[in-house]
Amino acid sequence: MPVVEQNVSLRPYNTFAVEALARYFVPVETAEDIRSVLADPRYGSLPRFVLGGGSNTLFTRDFDGLVLHMTGGSVELVDENDGFYFVRASAGVVWDDFVRKALDNGWYGLENLTAIPGTVGGAAVQNIGAYGVEAAERIVEVECFDPDRRVVRVLSLADCDYGYRTSIFKTAEKDLIVTSVLFALPKVFEPVCSYKELEAVFGDKKPATARELEEAVRAVRARKLPDPAVLPNAGSFFKNPVVTRVKMQRLLEETPSLVSYPLGGARTKLAAGWLIEACGLKGKRRGAAGVYERQALVLVNHGGATGAQIKELADEVAGAVRGRFGVQLEPEPVIL
Ligand SMILES: Cc1cc2nc3c(=O)[nH]c(=O)nc-3n(C[C@H](O)[C@H](O)[C@H](O)COP(=O)(O)OP(=O)(O)OC[C@H]3O[C@@H](n4cnc5c(N)ncnc54)[C@H](O)[C@@H]3O)c2cc1C
Repeated sequence: MPVVEQNVSLRPYNTFAVEALARYFVPVETAEDIRSVLADPRYGSLPRFVLGGGSNTLFTRDFDGLVLHMTGGSVELVDENDGFYFVRASAGVVWDDFVRKALDNGWYGLENLTAIPGTVGGAAVQNIGAYGVEAAERIVEVECFDPDRRVVRVLSLADCDYGYRTSIFKTAEKDLIVTSVLFALPKVFEPVCSYKELEAVFGDKKPATARELEEAVRAVRARKLPDPAVLPNAGSFFKNPVVTRVKMQRLLEETPSLVSYPLGGARTKLAAGWLIEACGLKGKRRGAAGVYERQALVLVNHGGATGAQIKELADEVAGAVRGRFGVQLEPEPVIL
């Protein structure tokens, strides 16, 4: 059985670098590891939290339970057909290592999702997305451990009920622990360059190779987002809110310069970063917690901030946007 430690600092395990203690902490890789830990009567009935890379989690307090830290595992080509390679990756594999391995092997389709922190399991739970591509577009099925019934379950893509930064693992099946993900990765490179930052790089000319596109995405990200190793953060702190067309018309009457993206139908997505900036909050600080001065959507820890301070700042930002625009911002990270 993997070794369970007591009173472990979670600071090295979250990209906000906030302090919080886990009463029990255990690194696990497989369903068998999880089963053996939960079979131990000391741990089986404790409150649980599954932690991947901690890049989308904000700890605002100590966790008086068991943290299962998904780590390690493998990436394997398991099958192929005319169009796709089918690749299985363990939940604890670092997402970016997976993307690099895919590129090295000519398994395409992940270029736009390069340089996103976290694990493969976290990516499948959060349905990560960037530059016009979402993880769900490449997922075939997700293997999970069901801790209540102590069995392995396989969820098809449809079962996962993917949406914008959400999945069934965040709603009806919160207890499931993702252990591996099966991806279908195209054999032919088809660049997705419709995002304006990528259009600015390539213009009318498409990237000739997947590596060229991956390098461009990596460079754009490095310019826009703070490196958590230098300035701890969890990426975008808020989801872009979706409003009805009626609400959008009202907002545009009051603020004609509002930035938005039509979603089709009667709904429009607003740029949360723009809303926050319009409230004059870019660069704002509350103690060591701050709104990043180059991208208002990102909250940062300037050094020594607590999770509670970051949460207070997030509440203040959401309150200001609600007050000015009547729009509710929802946090993207999981707040504990
Ligand atoms: C600098 C930076 C840039 C980012 N850019 C992007 C981006 O472009 N696009 C984007 O979508 N996200 C982005 N993110 C957010 C983050 O990287 C992703 O959400 C990532 O997938 C989280 O993975 P993780 O392993 O770190 O999850 P964690 O933070 O460890 O966990 C997040 C949630 O998933 C659950 N979870 C994790 N693993 C499992 C598992 N195996 N089984 C069940 N539940 C699990 C946790 O319990 C928690 O609820 C960024 C973050 C940072 C710091």
